[in-house]
Amino acid sequence: MTEPRTITLPTSDYGSVTLPCPAWCAGHPLHDPETLRVDLVHAGPAVDCTFLSQTLLSAELVQSPFSESTTPLLGGRTPGVSVYPLGSTLDPVALYGLAAGLDSYADQLRSLADQLAAVLGGDR
Ligand SMILES: [Zn+2]
Repeated sequence: MTEPRTITLPTSDYGSVTLPCPAWCAGHPLHDPETLRVDLVHAGPAVDCTFLSQTLLSAELVQSPFSESTTPLLGGRTPGVSVYPLGSTLDPVALYGLAAGLDSYADQLRSLADQLAAVLGGDR
C-alpha cells in the first residue's frame, strides 16, 4: 500500500497547512499564500472543450477539504466536478444531465448545419 501523498500549503489564517492530496489532484502549482484555509481546493486535470482556440467549457474534479459550504452546486468537502463557465460544482447525476444536454445541443447544431447547407444550395 502506498503512503498518502501530502502537501504543505501556506495560508493567511492558519499558517502552513499539511493535508493529504487525493490521487486525482494535479497538485497546487498556482497556490496563493494569501489563500484562507477554508478556500483550499484540490483540483484534477481540466477537461476542456475548445473550438477555434476558444475554451467553450472546462470541467475538473474538485474538493475543498476545509469548506464550510453546504450549498449544493458551490463545492464543498464532497468531491464534485466544477464546470466553467457554468460556475457550478456538479454531482454525478447533474454531470450526466449536462452531458445529455450537450448531446442534444450537438444534434441541434448538426440540424442547423444541414439547414445552412440547404440554404447555400449544397447537397447535404
Ligand atoms: Zn491537492
